[in-house]
Amino acid sequence: MANLKDKLIGHLTTSQAERSYNKITIVGVGAVGMACAISVLMKDLADEVALVDVMEDKLKGEMMDLQHGSLFLHTPKIVAGKDYSVTAGSKLVVVTAGARQQEGESRLNLVQRNVNIFKFIIPNVVKHSPDCLMLVVSNPVDVLTYVAWKLSGLPMHRVIGSGCNLDSARFRYLMGERLGIHSSSCHGWVIGEHGDSSVPVWSGMNVAGVSLKELHPDIGTEKDKENWKKVHKDVVDSAYEVIKLKGYTSWAIGMSVADLAETIMKNLRRVHPISTMVKGFYGIKDDVFMSLPCVLDNHGICNIVKMTLKPDEEGQLQKSANTLWDIQKDLQF
Ligand code: NAD
Repeated sequence: MANLKDKLIGHLTTSQAERSYNKITIVGVGAVGMACAISVLMKDLADEVALVDVMEDKLKGEMMDLQHGSLFLHTPKIVAGKDYSVTAGSKLVVVTAGARQQEGESRLNLVQRNVNIFKFIIPNVVKHSPDCLMLVVSNPVDVLTYVAWKLSGLPMHRVIGSGCNLDSARFRYLMGERLGIHSSSCHGWVIGEHGDSSVPVWSGMNVAGVSLKELHPDIGTEKDKENWKKVHKDVVDSAYEVIKLKGYTSWAIGMSVADLAETIMKNLRRVHPISTMVKGFYGIKDDVFMSLPCVLDNHGICNIVKMTLKPDEEGQLQKSANTLWDIQKDLQF
């Protein structure tokens, strides 16, 4: 007896395409992972989204909640599981799993706890998606991008850290607030470590190609009567402040990850301040990952834009690299 489905649907061929072509996996369904998931879904970037976590009930609940929104999305398949087989064949894997900062805790403090978690996650990801790009978000993001690169065996251009993409977005928002201009027209780059030792490139800040440093030479210095330095201080302090107020940060990092995912999935070759291997640039001699302006596409990071930095900016970048190397060199993995 034919069932309803058979009565309704005629077949031109018996083979059904099971494969996804643009699959994105998100590892870790905490506050950050779910903000990434909803942002990726709302931008229609994938034909399949897979979620992985160790907390099975939470994972299933999050998956069901998203699936129930299918009518409003254009991603036909949303799956989840503790087993990494659900991630097979991903183009992009976003890693958000791990401990988060407690109130007042620095990102670098989290490191060994999250390295131990990565020892399990990263080999499993690569086993099921050997051709993927890996985007690391868990903190301390620069150190963990290095760790993910080492544990994965992937070429360095395919292991990317979200790095200063968020710091630069925060910087451009605050710059826009001061100038009364939308962030997208306020150009400013924060590079180096994502976090406390990040470096604002005052010499490159501009609106419509007009250099703010040329108009206001004291910008970013102690002498500056307008105290633009506070814009960068507020960027550094902002995660601490949001964590103090709501317990964690999520929406802005989710949106900034979806922006990177868009560049990757659509092969846009946009330039983002993201974490990559910087040995050999600006006199940095160690195997350190941190943010520089990178050309991103669906192969990963193949090019870095060589910014013309002032000597003090270059010095700060080297200091940022030394801070990261000091942590990295003693890691056990
Ligand atoms: P959270 O505690 O809400 O979620 C973490 C999730 O990871 C939990 O669901 C947990 O079960 C899961 N997890 C733990 N071990 C796992 C494992 N072995 N495999 C799979 N999943 C595992 O934390 P959160 O607020 O979502 O933050 C996640 C990470 O993102 C933190 O390290 C945080 O510091 C970082 N973060 C980074 C940025 C950035 O700009 N790079 C911004 C915000 C937060």
